[in-house]
Amino acid sequence: MKKILVTGGAGFIGSHLCEILLNEGNEVLALDNFFTGNKRNIVHLLDNPFFEMIRHDITMPFFAEVDEIYNLACPASPVHYQHNAIKTVKTSVLGAINMLGLAKRKNAKILQASTSEVYGDPEIHPQPESYLGNVNTLGPRSCYDEGKRVAETLFINYNRQNNVRIKIARIFNTYGPKMHPNDGRVVSNFIVQALMNKNITVYGNGKQTRSFQYVDDLLTGLMSLVNDTDDDFLGPVNIGNPGEFTILELAEKVIEFTGSKSKIVFLPLPEDDPLQRKPDITLAVEKLNWKPTINLETGLIKTIKYFDELLSEKN
Ligand code: NAD
Ligand code: UDP
Repeated sequence: MKKILVTGGAGFIGSHLCEILLNEGNEVLALDNFFTGNKRNIVHLLDNPFFEMIRHDITMPFFAEVDEIYNLACPASPVHYQHNAIKTVKTSVLGAINMLGLAKRKNAKILQASTSEVYGDPEIHPQPESYLGNVNTLGPRSCYDEGKRVAETLFINYNRQNNVRIKIARIFNTYGPKMHPNDGRVVSNFIVQALMNKNITVYGNGKQTRSFQYVDDLLTGLMSLVNDTDDDFLGPVNIGNPGEFTILELAEKVIEFTGSKSKIVFLPLPEDDPLQRKPDITLAVEKLNWKPTINLETGLIKTIKYFDELLSEKN
């Protein structure tokens, strides 16, 4: 039985990960400061004697006996990570230092949840891991993008200097059940708006693209990377679904699948909003034998069902 630490364990991805790691027979310790996470996401796990939930901020050191660490703590929605930009940088940078220090002391393997945002507004399409990115150091997204870039730098240098066993996953836009209804990211926004027959808020002209990955595919990708026994393969590796859609196409699909009466409205495009994004997943296929299996239609239907039930409970 492995002892696995999941930082950000009460968040959208972290809570799914805790559940699957427990189901696979591991002991799981979840850390979260509940900034964007929610107890509701993990309440069903609290009776499991092999699960512990600890309220802790990863900008502070943490000590525990652990064999593996999934470092997921960090707000991921632009609305939330821009709310307190300095804190976002601290979470990415000090959080990485604290978790890498723990991994070093315990000789634990550690995964960093990095992001496609390290590519910024990309000039190469689709984005392979070798692309160095186009990030504005001063823009409103920089607290997240640069924080995550420094975290990658810390990870690689803890490996080079201290032989810490690291893995870096660059995660592309992921969605699914357990996203917070007020998360602010596009899939949850559109679904909640459609289910409430409110206007669907498309930013800009809606021609910008994203590649949406259903959460179950991400979980198998992250676990394949951590369980990969090639200690020389550290990543970074893109984990995403190459299916690329415009935001307008997404809005139309959500309206269709919810049968909503919502109208699409166009609002200003936020500063530095990337125009296009699509992962090149050749490396993940080659090294991890991993590729996503859930298409946007299937994933959206599952996610709509979740939000439909959630909103009905509230009414
Ligand atoms: P989320 O906001 O739902 O989860 C993040 C969790 O981290 C929350 O529970 C939050 O309370 C917790 N947290 C934030 N700051 C903390 C701190 N200082 N100390 C302790 N806990 C803290 O977001 P998510 O979508 O589940 O993202 C999880 C991770 O995956 C993040 O690191 C994010 O950058 C990364 N990621 C996500 C996506 C995506 O599309 N969902 C894409 C790329 C990368
Ligand atoms: N977006 C939108 N309406 C919304 C929320 C987001 O049109 O209500 C757009 C946003 O401008 C961006 C895309 O959808 O172009 C994805 O945004 P999200 O915040 O989900 O993630 P990110 O920009 O970090 O990829």
